[in-house]
Amino acid sequence: MTTIYDKLQQVRGRLSQACAAAGRDPASVALLAVSKTFGADALAQAVAAGQRAFGENYIQEGVAKIAALRAALPGAALQWHCIGPIQGNKTRPVAEHFDWVHTVDRLRIAERLSAQRPAHLPPLQVCIQVNVDGDPNKSGVAPADAPDLVRAVAQLPCLRVRGLMSIPDHAPDFEAQRAVHLRARRLFDQIRGHAEPGLEDFDTLSLGMTADLEAAVQAGSTLVRVGTGIFGGRDTAP
Ligand SMILES: *Cc1c(COP(=O)(O)O)cnc(C)c1O
Repeated sequence: MTTIYDKLQQVRGRLSQACAAAGRDPASVALLAVSKTFGADALAQAVAAGQRAFGENYIQEGVAKIAALRAALPGAALQWHCIGPIQGNKTRPVAEHFDWVHTVDRLRIAERLSAQRPAHLPPLQVCIQVNVDGDPNKSGVAPADAPDLVRAVAQLPCLRVRGLMSIPDHAPDFEAQRAVHLRARRLFDQIRGHAEPGLEDFDTLSLGMTADLEAAVQAGSTLVRVGTGIFGGRDTAP
């Protein structure tokens, strides 16, 4: 049986090969283990294999696992990323329990997260989700509106705007995957090019999943979100 340790090693191998192919430092791409639908025991195995950053899509499920892992492994410095859609009335548990949020796509959500972030915690680290496919039914801010949203979020006191995130539609091959990731990359470079106050830590491009991490690294991703590659297939739809 392939263990979580083995699968994590395979993903790390894929990442370092992708960095070599792209001429990039392997330390420039972080690995987020996407643990939605998997139990705390699976996460504990990943922690034992050296993984520290976890991504959760469903807020209640994530909050329960944060508590379970804190109880089971009190000394582990784990980092929790919310990567699922956030309804306007569900911001509070995100603000209170997570370290990062990748899915901010409108100012109202950002304002609530900032207002609800407890004062004793560091600022919530935020990526703005961009809809690079242009399908109006998908979440994410339209690319043309992203710079203004980034600037507005940068003004909020209890958030730190860290970069962009996108979840493109499935693309058939490496070139098509790279092309769509490059749209996010260009927007990222464009926003970074304006050295504005509040954007000092705008350094994160959250792109790529199990199926397309090589293309994402080639396009400049600094954080890949990998679920299936580490934990195996999920029963429930993502
Ligand atoms: C589920 C999910 C992932 C991981 O997808 P895999 O194909 O299992 O690697 C990454 N990002 C988001 C936003 C997800 O919802």
